[in-house]
Amino acid sequence: NRNGTTTTTTTVKPPPVTLQQSPIINLDRGDPSVFEPYWRKNGGKCTITISGHDSLSYFSDPNSVCWYMEPELQEAIRRVHRVVGNAETEGCHVVAGTGSTVLFQAALYALSTSSSSVAAEPMKVVCAAPYYSQYKEQVELLQSRLYEWGGDAETFDGSAAPFIEVVTSPNNPDGSLREAAVANKTGNGKLIHDLAYYWPNYTPITRPADYDIMLFTLTKCTGHAGSRIGWALVKDVEVAKKMTTFMQITTIGVSKDSQLRAAKILDVVAEDCEQHAAGAFGYAGNDADKTFFGESRKLMAERWEKLREAVKDKKDVFTLPKYPKRYCNFSGRYFQPAPDVILYAAAFGWLECKEGCDASALMKAHNVLTRGGETFGVSSRYTRISMIGREEEFERFIERISGIQCVDEEDE
Ligand code: PMP
Repeated sequence: NRNGTTTTTTTVKPPPVTLQQSPIINLDRGDPSVFEPYWRKNGGKCTITISGHDSLSYFSDPNSVCWYMEPELQEAIRRVHRVVGNAETEGCHVVAGTGSTVLFQAALYALSTSSSSVAAEPMKVVCAAPYYSQYKEQVELLQSRLYEWGGDAETFDGSAAPFIEVVTSPNNPDGSLREAAVANKTGNGKLIHDLAYYWPNYTPITRPADYDIMLFTLTKCTGHAGSRIGWALVKDVEVAKKMTTFMQITTIGVSKDSQLRAAKILDVVAEDCEQHAAGAFGYAGNDADKTFFGESRKLMAERWEKLREAVKDKKDVFTLPKYPKRYCNFSGRYFQPAPDVILYAAAFGWLECKEGCDASALMKAHNVLTRGGETFGVSSRYTRISMIGREEEFERFIERISGIQCVDEEDE
């Protein structure tokens, strides 16, 4: 079955003693340190000064639905989407959040309390497996009477009552590009699109996304996870108002200091792309290193090349998904001459081991920490490795791959 459930047993062969003593490589977390070297070189452009008299008021823009949002941030967000071409912002309200994590909860609140929802039973929240593990945790945390976790969208019967489907595209953990699994079939589903990874660093930008609720985050866009800035593009004003109310009741808004810094970073990123396209950096061809997306997509592609090369001879142990090649409209517009095709360079590697092998246990035996498939609602023969960690850790992992073995008991 698609979850790969099986009863065959495969043992995890102990690695050689040298490996057992080797340092632990942590590829469990999706902490975006991969972009730090770029920002070390180019971060000076993003410096802003915040004086003692700044950011005193709760309020930023009383005329906007999201009254605590700094107008500079709103403008920078619309600008970067226009430049990248990854989302239609026209006609959308922008709601800011402390990362997109809280906006997911704000969206659940808004959708489960709208007048068309049935209030008698908690609304089911579903997502096609493998799904981002935090959705389930967030849905279940407060044991809400408004909504509850409904599991895998692929096997969910969406005909009975209104429900919420989360669509993550590109998907965490497996990088696949997705559309709704059930919501569009039954007409009962409300959609939240989590587009955290729909940036040219990870995937070709094939069209501007245009959905009712789209979640984005600075965490995966520029790598500034610690600034905790996310945003939602919301079509329905009532939904945007409810999401803002959720933020008001839970946190009374989002740090203005962080908002101003995020606005500056996004502006610099957008400006650099425009300057590059105009030839202002003074070099020709596809050398787009000075732009954040130019360098980051190159870096991610290089990592994927190294990973694919390293697992090429390990087909008996694990395989990686095959991603289609697509033309990236963004790269075509800004990085001339345009490459005709762009490969996916997902933020995570999704390793599939043979049946009966516990993939994360196998990796752990080799001192590599990963996140096992069961966390994402599928079999333990899958595990997720972060591709966005520090260079040194990634390189050590690539070296270690050749020593990883999984042995069937009958082979022993
Ligand atoms: N959605 C997805 C799919 C993610 O992978 C993450 C971060 N791991 C988030 C949302 C949340 O990011 P943040 O709260 O840092 O904005």
